[in-house]
Amino acid sequence: MKVVCTKCKVAKDSSDFYRERMKRNGLKSRCKSCHNKASLPHQRAYYRRKLKKDPDYFRARRKNRYWENSDFRKKIVEANVKYFKNRYASDPEFRQRIIDTASARYYRLRNSKSWAGVESR
Ligand SMILES: [Zn+2]
Repeated sequence: MKVVCTKCKVAKDSSDFYRERMKRNGLKSRCKSCHNKASLPHQRAYYRRKLKKDPDYFRARRKNRYWENSDFRKKIVEANVKYFKNRYASDPEFRQRIIDTASARYYRLRNSKSWAGVESR
């Protein structure tokens, strides 16, 4: 079903419109992109207001979502791995830093007291 958006006057598929139960065709009169464009300032205002009232709200929500939604978690981990691999391959300074940290950690572990007992055995 094609619907004409009242804002941009473009005939779009009904899936390009959000639902609105009160409307006869069950759809909002503006298409999704027009609707999102129009509501962006409101969203930003809401975000700012919320952040002022509760600075940890969005961080906590994201953290919750991370631990409770395994798909979301997988997506974030995959993105991080991709970023790391890309940077490791293209940024020699980054690569050197990773190698340095890894070997520093190794030597620290090697020389730490926790290994003393293990080696003498
Ligand atoms: Zn539109």
